[in-house]
Amino acid sequence: MLTSGLIYLIVVTGLFGLVIGSFLYVVAYRVPAGVSLMRESRCPHCDAPVRWWQSVPVVSWLALRGRCANCHASISARYPIIEAITGVAFAGVTWFFVAGDGSTRSPTGTGAWSLAAVIVAFLYFAAISIVLTLIDLDTHRLLNAIVLPSYPVAAVLLALACVLGADWWGLLRAGIGMAAMYVFYFVLRLVRPDGMGGGDVKLAGVVGLYLGWVGWAALAVGAFAAFLLGGVYGVVLLASRKASRRTAIPFGPWMLAGAWTGIITGEIVGRFYGGLYGS
Ligand SMILES: [Zn+2]
Repeated sequence: MLTSGLIYLIVVTGLFGLVIGSFLYVVAYRVPAGVSLMRESRCPHCDAPVRWWQSVPVVSWLALRGRCANCHASISARYPIIEAITGVAFAGVTWFFVAGDGSTRSPTGTGAWSLAAVIVAFLYFAAISIVLTLIDLDTHRLLNAIVLPSYPVAAVLLALACVLGADWWGLLRAGIGMAAMYVFYFVLRLVRPDGMGGGDVKLAGVVGLYLGWVGWAALAVGAFAAFLLGGVYGVVLLASRKASRRTAIPFGPWMLAGAWTGIITGEIVGRFYGGLYGS
Protein backbone atom coordinates (compact mmCIF):
# COMPACT_ATOMS: atom_id res chain seq x y z
CA MET A 1 0.00 0.00 0.00
CA LEU A 2 1.44 3.34 -1.08
CA THR A 3 0.30 5.95 1.43
CA SER A 4 1.33 9.60 1.13
CA GLY A 5 3.70 9.12 4.07
CA LEU A 6 5.37 6.26 2.27
CA ILE A 7 5.68 8.20 -1.00
CA TYR A 8 7.30 11.03 1.00
CA LEU A 9 9.75 8.55 2.59
CA ILE A 10 10.65 7.05 -0.81
CA VAL A 11 11.21 10.51 -2.36
CA VAL A 12 13.38 11.68 0.56
CA THR A 13 15.45 8.48 0.42
CA GLY A 14 15.83 8.91 -3.34
CA LEU A 15 17.10 12.50 -2.89
CA PHE A 16 19.48 11.26 -0.18
CA GLY A 17 20.65 8.65 -2.73
CA LEU A 18 21.52 11.40 -5.24
CA VAL A 19 23.85 12.99 -2.68
CA ILE A 20 25.37 9.63 -1.73
CA GLY A 21 25.82 8.87 -5.45
CA SER A 22 27.86 12.04 -5.83
CA PHE A 23 30.06 10.87 -2.92
CA LEU A 24 30.36 7.32 -4.34
CA TYR A 25 31.68 8.71 -7.62
CA VAL A 26 34.39 10.60 -5.74
CA VAL A 27 35.25 7.45 -3.72
CA ALA A 28 35.38 5.28 -6.85
CA TYR A 29 37.91 7.51 -8.60
CA ARG A 30 39.98 8.78 -5.68
CA VAL A 31 40.42 5.78 -3.36
CA PRO A 32 42.06 3.43 -5.95
CA ALA A 33 44.32 6.32 -7.02
CA GLY A 34 45.27 7.07 -3.40
CA VAL A 35 43.90 10.63 -3.50
CA SER A 36 42.42 12.01 -0.26
CA LEU A 37 38.62 12.20 -0.02
CA MET A 38 39.03 15.48 1.89
CA ARG A 39 40.66 17.35 -0.99
CA GLU A 40 38.35 19.87 -2.61
CA SER A 41 37.08 19.03 -6.09
CA ARG A 42 38.73 20.80 -8.99
CA CYS A 43 38.19 20.78 -12.74
CA PRO A 44 40.67 18.18 -14.10
CA HIS A 45 41.14 20.42 -17.14
CA CYS A 46 41.70 23.97 -15.79
CA ASP A 47 42.07 23.22 -12.04
CA ALA A 48 39.31 25.69 -11.11
CA PRO A 49 37.72 24.74 -7.76
CA VAL A 50 34.18 23.34 -8.01
CA ARG A 51 31.76 25.65 -6.14
CA TRP A 52 28.98 24.19 -3.98
CA TRP A 53 26.28 25.21 -6.44
CA GLN A 54 28.21 23.40 -9.17
CA SER A 55 28.07 20.13 -7.26
CA VAL A 56 24.33 19.71 -6.71
CA PRO A 57 23.68 16.14 -7.92
CA VAL A 58 22.36 15.83 -11.51
CA VAL A 59 20.95 19.41 -11.49
CA SER A 60 24.35 21.13 -11.70
CA TRP A 61 25.53 18.94 -14.56
CA LEU A 62 22.32 19.67 -16.48
CA ALA A 63 22.46 23.42 -15.67
CA LEU A 64 26.10 23.59 -16.83
CA ARG A 65 25.16 21.48 -19.86
CA GLY A 66 27.96 19.06 -18.97
CA ARG A 67 30.70 21.71 -19.17
CA CYS A 68 33.08 23.31 -16.66
CA ALA A 69 31.80 26.81 -15.70
CA ASN A 70 35.33 28.20 -16.00
CA CYS A 71 37.00 26.60 -19.05
CA HIS A 72 33.98 24.92 -20.69
CA ALA A 73 35.78 21.57 -20.93
CA SER A 74 33.22 18.77 -20.98
CA ILE A 75 32.42 17.07 -17.66
CA SER A 76 31.88 13.29 -17.86
CA ALA A 77 28.23 12.19 -18.04
CA ARG A 78 29.23 9.46 -15.58
CA TYR A 79 28.67 11.96 -12.73
CA PRO A 80 24.93 12.53 -13.23
CA ILE A 81 24.41 8.90 -14.35
CA ILE A 82 25.94 7.45 -11.16
CA GLU A 83 24.05 10.00 -9.04
CA ALA A 84 20.75 9.13 -10.74
CA ILE A 85 21.36 5.36 -10.46
CA THR A 86 22.10 5.70 -6.73
CA GLY A 87 19.00 7.85 -6.19
CA VAL A 88 16.77 5.31 -7.96
CA ALA A 89 18.45 2.41 -6.12
CA PHE A 90 17.89 4.06 -2.70
CA ALA A 91 14.25 4.83 -3.48
CA GLY A 92 13.81 1.26 -4.78
CA VAL A 93 15.33 -0.37 -1.67
CA THR A 94 13.03 1.68 0.59
CA TRP A 95 9.97 0.82 -1.48
CA PHE A 96 10.94 -2.87 -1.56
CA PHE A 97 11.22 -3.25 2.21
CA VAL A 98 8.29 -1.04 3.15
CA ALA A 99 5.70 -1.91 0.50
CA GLY A 100 7.22 -4.35 -1.98
CA ASP A 101 8.00 -8.04 -1.75
CA GLY A 102 10.70 -7.54 0.86
CA SER A 103 8.11 -6.30 3.35
CA THR A 104 6.50 -9.74 3.51
CA ARG A 105 9.72 -11.32 4.74
CA SER A 106 11.63 -8.61 6.58
CA PRO A 107 10.74 -7.87 10.15
CA THR A 108 7.11 -8.89 9.90
CA GLY A 109 4.99 -7.70 12.74
CA THR A 110 7.76 -5.55 14.15
CA GLY A 111 8.12 -1.85 14.65
CA ALA A 112 9.19 0.94 12.37
CA TRP A 113 12.60 1.24 14.09
CA SER A 114 13.50 -2.34 13.30
CA LEU A 115 12.44 -1.82 9.68
CA ALA A 116 14.50 1.38 9.56
CA ALA A 117 17.63 -0.55 10.64
CA VAL A 118 17.01 -3.14 7.90
CA ILE A 119 16.55 -0.41 5.28
CA VAL A 120 19.76 1.37 6.33
CA ALA A 121 21.62 -1.97 6.17
CA PHE A 122 20.40 -2.55 2.60
CA LEU A 123 20.98 1.08 1.53
CA TYR A 124 24.57 0.55 2.66
CA PHE A 125 24.71 -2.62 0.56
CA ALA A 126 23.32 -0.71 -2.45
CA ALA A 127 26.00 1.97 -1.98
CA ILE A 128 28.91 -0.50 -1.79
CA SER A 129 27.43 -2.47 -4.72
CA ILE A 130 27.66 0.65 -6.88
CA VAL A 131 31.09 1.81 -5.74
CA LEU A 132 32.64 -1.70 -5.89
CA THR A 133 31.22 -2.24 -9.39
CA LEU A 134 32.70 1.06 -10.62
CA ILE A 135 36.13 0.27 -9.13
CA ASP A 136 36.15 -3.39 -10.26
CA LEU A 137 35.25 -2.44 -13.85
CA ASP A 138 38.02 0.18 -13.88
CA THR A 139 40.81 -1.53 -11.98
CA HIS A 140 39.79 -5.23 -11.66
CA ARG A 141 40.07 -4.91 -7.90
CA LEU A 142 37.65 -5.20 -4.99
CA LEU A 143 39.20 -2.95 -2.37
CA ASN A 144 39.66 -4.39 1.13
CA ALA A 145 39.14 -0.85 2.45
CA ILE A 146 35.49 -1.11 1.32
CA VAL A 147 34.79 -4.87 1.50
CA LEU A 148 36.20 -5.67 4.97
CA PRO A 149 34.40 -2.93 6.98
CA SER A 150 31.17 -4.11 5.32
CA TYR A 151 31.14 -7.23 7.55
CA PRO A 152 30.84 -5.32 10.85
CA VAL A 153 28.62 -2.59 9.35
CA ALA A 154 26.10 -5.13 8.01
CA ALA A 155 26.29 -7.35 11.10
CA VAL A 156 25.75 -4.44 13.52
CA LEU A 157 22.82 -2.97 11.55
CA LEU A 158 21.05 -6.34 11.16
CA ALA A 159 21.71 -7.24 14.82
CA LEU A 160 20.25 -3.85 15.74
CA ALA A 161 17.15 -4.70 13.69
CA CYS A 162 16.81 -7.88 15.80
CA VAL A 163 17.25 -6.00 19.08
CA LEU A 164 14.50 -3.63 17.89
CA GLY A 165 12.16 -6.53 17.21
CA ALA A 166 13.09 -8.36 13.99
CA ASP A 167 13.23 -12.15 13.94
CA TRP A 168 16.55 -13.45 15.33
CA TRP A 169 16.35 -16.36 12.86
CA GLY A 170 17.15 -13.82 10.16
CA LEU A 171 20.48 -13.06 11.82
CA LEU A 172 21.25 -16.78 12.17
CA ARG A 173 20.44 -17.29 8.48
CA ALA A 174 22.69 -14.31 7.65
CA GLY A 175 25.57 -15.94 9.55
CA ILE A 176 25.06 -19.26 7.78
CA GLY A 177 24.73 -17.51 4.39
CA MET A 178 27.94 -15.59 5.03
CA ALA A 179 29.89 -18.75 5.92
CA ALA A 180 28.41 -20.77 3.05
CA MET A 181 29.18 -18.18 0.36
CA TYR A 182 32.67 -17.53 1.72
CA VAL A 183 33.55 -21.25 1.78
CA PHE A 184 31.98 -21.79 -1.68
CA TYR A 185 34.10 -19.05 -3.28
CA PHE A 186 37.16 -20.06 -1.26
CA VAL A 187 36.93 -23.58 -2.75
CA LEU A 188 36.29 -22.16 -6.24
CA ARG A 189 39.49 -20.13 -5.90
CA LEU A 190 41.42 -23.22 -4.75
CA VAL A 191 40.20 -25.15 -7.79
CA ARG A 192 40.73 -22.35 -10.30
CA PRO A 193 43.05 -19.66 -8.87
CA ASP A 194 43.05 -17.74 -12.18
CA GLY A 195 39.23 -17.60 -12.30
CA MET A 196 38.57 -15.91 -8.96
CA GLY A 197 40.46 -13.22 -7.06
CA GLY A 198 40.94 -13.05 -3.30
CA GLY A 199 38.69 -9.97 -3.35
CA ASP A 200 35.88 -12.08 -4.81
CA VAL A 201 36.14 -14.53 -1.90
CA LYS A 202 35.98 -11.72 0.69
CA LEU A 203 33.02 -10.05 -1.05
CA ALA A 204 31.20 -13.41 -1.25
CA GLY A 205 30.91 -13.46 2.57
CA VAL A 206 29.25 -10.03 2.60
CA VAL A 207 26.88 -11.06 -0.22
CA GLY A 208 25.99 -14.28 1.65
CA LEU A 209 25.27 -12.30 4.82
CA TYR A 210 22.70 -10.11 3.07
CA LEU A 211 21.15 -12.93 1.04
CA GLY A 212 20.89 -15.14 4.13
CA TRP A 213 19.05 -12.38 5.99
CA VAL A 214 16.45 -12.17 3.21
CA GLY A 215 15.92 -15.95 3.11
CA TRP A 216 17.11 -19.35 1.91
CA ALA A 217 15.52 -18.93 -1.52
CA ALA A 218 17.22 -15.54 -1.94
CA LEU A 219 20.56 -17.14 -0.98
CA ALA A 220 20.14 -19.93 -3.55
CA VAL A 221 18.93 -17.60 -6.33
CA GLY A 222 21.58 -14.98 -5.56
CA ALA A 223 24.46 -17.48 -5.61
CA PHE A 224 23.25 -19.06 -8.85
CA ALA A 225 22.32 -15.82 -10.66
CA ALA A 226 25.89 -14.49 -10.34
CA PHE A 227 27.23 -17.34 -12.47
CA LEU A 228 24.30 -17.21 -14.88
CA LEU A 229 24.66 -13.45 -15.49
CA GLY A 230 28.47 -13.54 -15.57
CA GLY A 231 28.40 -16.58 -17.87
CA VAL A 232 25.95 -14.99 -20.32
CA TYR A 233 28.09 -11.84 -20.39
CA GLY A 234 31.22 -13.93 -21.05
CA VAL A 235 29.54 -15.79 -23.91
CA VAL A 236 28.35 -12.51 -25.44
CA LEU A 237 31.90 -11.10 -25.22
CA LEU A 238 33.36 -14.23 -26.83
CA ALA A 239 30.73 -14.29 -29.58
CA SER A 240 31.29 -10.62 -30.40
CA ARG A 241 35.06 -11.28 -30.37
CA LYS A 242 35.57 -8.50 -27.82
CA ALA A 243 37.34 -11.03 -25.58
CA SER A 244 39.30 -14.24 -25.90
CA ARG A 245 39.10 -17.21 -23.55
CA ARG A 246 42.03 -15.75 -21.64
CA THR A 247 40.54 -12.29 -21.03
CA ALA A 248 40.02 -11.66 -17.32
CA ILE A 249 36.44 -10.54 -16.71
CA PRO A 250 35.86 -8.91 -13.31
CA PHE A 251 33.42 -11.11 -11.40
CA GLY A 252 32.54 -8.70 -8.57
CA PRO A 253 29.86 -6.82 -10.54
CA TRP A 254 28.17 -10.13 -11.46
CA MET A 255 28.28 -11.36 -7.89
CA LEU A 256 26.57 -8.13 -6.82
CA ALA A 257 24.06 -8.19 -9.70
CA GLY A 258 23.29 -11.81 -8.74
CA ALA A 259 22.86 -10.78 -5.10
CA TRP A 260 20.28 -8.11 -5.97
CA THR A 261 18.49 -10.58 -8.26
CA GLY A 262 18.29 -12.93 -5.26
CA ILE A 263 17.13 -10.19 -2.87
CA ILE A 264 14.38 -8.99 -5.24
CA THR A 265 13.15 -12.32 -6.65
CA GLY A 266 14.09 -14.78 -3.88
CA GLU A 267 10.76 -14.50 -2.10
CA ILE A 268 8.78 -15.05 -5.33
CA VAL A 269 10.94 -18.06 -6.30
CA GLY A 270 10.63 -19.41 -2.75
CA ARG A 271 6.82 -19.14 -2.85
CA PHE A 272 6.78 -20.88 -6.24
CA TYR A 273 8.80 -23.88 -5.03
CA GLY A 274 7.02 -23.83 -1.66
CA GLY A 275 3.77 -24.17 -3.62
CA LEU A 276 5.18 -27.02 -5.69
CA TYR A 277 6.23 -29.04 -2.67
CA GLY A 278 3.32 -28.02 -0.50
CA SER A 279 5.31 -26.49 2.36
ZN1 LIG B 1 37.63 23.76 -16.18
